[in-house]
Amino acid sequence: MAPIGDGPEYDLVVIGGGSGGLAAAKEAAGLGAKVAVLDYVTPSPKGTKWGLGGTCVNVGCIPKKLMHQAALLGEAIEDAKSYGWQFPQPENIKHDWASLRQAVQNHIKSVNWVTRVELRDKKVEYINGLGVFKDPHTVHTVTKQGERTLTSKYFLIAVGGRPRYPNIPGAVEYGITSDDIFSLEEAPGKTLVVGAGYIGLECAGFLRGLGYDATVMVRSVVLRGFDQQMAKLIASAMEEKGVKFLHKCLPKSVEKRSDNKLLVKWSNETGQEFEDVFDTVLFAIGRRALTRELHLDKAGVKVAGDGEKIDAMNEQSNVPHIFAVGDVLYKKPELTPVAIHAGRLLARRLFGNSTVQMDYDNVATTVFSPLEYGSVGISEETAIQRFGENNIEIYHAYYKPTEFFIPQRSIAHCYLKVVAKREGPQQVLGMHFIGPQAGEVIQGFAAAMKCNLTVNALMSTVGIHPTIAEEFTRINITKRSGKDPNPASCCS
Ligand code: FAD
Ligand code: NAP
Repeated sequence: MAPIGDGPEYDLVVIGGGSGGLAAAKEAAGLGAKVAVLDYVTPSPKGTKWGLGGTCVNVGCIPKKLMHQAALLGEAIEDAKSYGWQFPQPENIKHDWASLRQAVQNHIKSVNWVTRVELRDKKVEYINGLGVFKDPHTVHTVTKQGERTLTSKYFLIAVGGRPRYPNIPGAVEYGITSDDIFSLEEAPGKTLVVGAGYIGLECAGFLRGLGYDATVMVRSVVLRGFDQQMAKLIASAMEEKGVKFLHKCLPKSVEKRSDNKLLVKWSNETGQEFEDVFDTVLFAIGRRALTRELHLDKAGVKVAGDGEKIDAMNEQSNVPHIFAVGDVLYKKPELTPVAIHAGRLLARRLFGNSTVQMDYDNVATTVFSPLEYGSVGISEETAIQRFGENNIEIYHAYYKPTEFFIPQRSIAHCYLKVVAKREGPQQVLGMHFIGPQAGEVIQGFAAAMKCNLTVNALMSTVGIHPTIAEEFTRINITKRSGKDPNPASCCS
């Protein structure tokens, strides 16, 4: 329905009801704007689809964290035995994929429902349709109820992305992605995960934790862009738990055999060819922004050099009344809190007289592998590149989490690192932590870094004993000193 009268029908039309779009829509409506959100999920090639809420809720952070938790509980059962818990028939303790999948999917459905109710309560109109630009001021969509044409003062593009598939025979026909794994009907079995970024490591980590044979195929390095010493430690921790790694390899084809198993062929950097049989092949090779479907040319919105993402200055595209937030933005972190924060701040600037801009620097993040790696700020490599080796100081330590003592769990990978400027009070540039609950540990220090944390301040902070977060307050060994960073005792 076109607007009656001269003005546009809405103050804000949001295309994409995920983390960023919903945050912006709710904030704008709360500030009195008339808002509509279009959200539509195109089924994955395997036919998986889901409800309102975007990637995080349906096929991202939340199901991932739940499966991570399931894997951690498996480890906890093992630990429990050494703490005196007795299991009458330990040989009968096994994991049931179908129960986990159902529990995860039930939770997701409840969140989908709550999200719809929340939009209704906040008077945000939800339209279940794929939004397509007709011109710079009009978006068109087709819903079950019929066609809609929406005009608005402002538009927000928050369409996020979807997993890529490699261009090899059989990838799309027989492979799955993170879009499918959390609702997979059959237990995944022996799984090959192609890609060694966040998603690849996290999926392989929880699958192994649940008892499946998991192999990660790495194209170049594990967790490219992260501090590489930490990345290698994470890979080694995963290997210790039984995850296999195929380094410097690329898949060539996936074929389905008569027994329904998947024959994968691949080659390494010297061109040597290999093959093995898997039950599941999961591609985690990065994500493509969903801009192609939007007909951005009709709106005059330009995409960045990569041909897909929107290069927006303060979330504003080259068309002044069209904005973008979240994974669709060029060279910005693809993280839920980033999308939410940017969406909220944008709504406040558009409708609440605010001038506060999003700060994309020093955003904390965690890889749940399942031993967690949390980090905020820059890596050792980036610090050296930016400031020169002589101008930075690296504090580091291995430590022993108290909870690992009795089960005698490996502490080989429990390591932390503080990257700081060498001069003066030694401003902290990066903090890196591997261990249980690393995400919880690093979150508070991220706030401290926002307040220009220094090594002096860290060292004069009194720790909470016995925690693992206190290890950051105990740092005293620099890499430069060459001293042994291994712990002497728990309380030294
Ligand atoms: P999305 O949440 O993807 O929402 C976009 C929505 O728009 C989708 O519902 C889409 O279907 C819809 N849409 C697309 N095109 C149209 C259209 N034309 N019309 C209407 N609707 C449309 N981040 C973290 O911070 N922590 C984590 O632990 C974490 N884990 C992750 C694990 C996995 C497996 C994945 C895949 C991602 C994970 N992320 C995590 C990243 C996080 O999910 C994303 O950064 C975040 O969801 C991006 O939000 P967004 O608003 O940009 O897009
Ligand atoms: P990613 O981090 O960009 O990693 C992609 C991986 O796939 C890299 O290891 C890459 O190798 C490899 N790769 C790329 N193309 C390939 C090909 N053709 N064949 C084989 N391997 C290939 O992407 P992602 O893991 O899909 O995650 C996407 C985003 O989601 C992340 O950037 C992150 O922001 C977000 N996310 C966050 C969390 C979290 O916060 N815990 C969890 C999951 C996802 P190279 O290094 O050689 O390029």
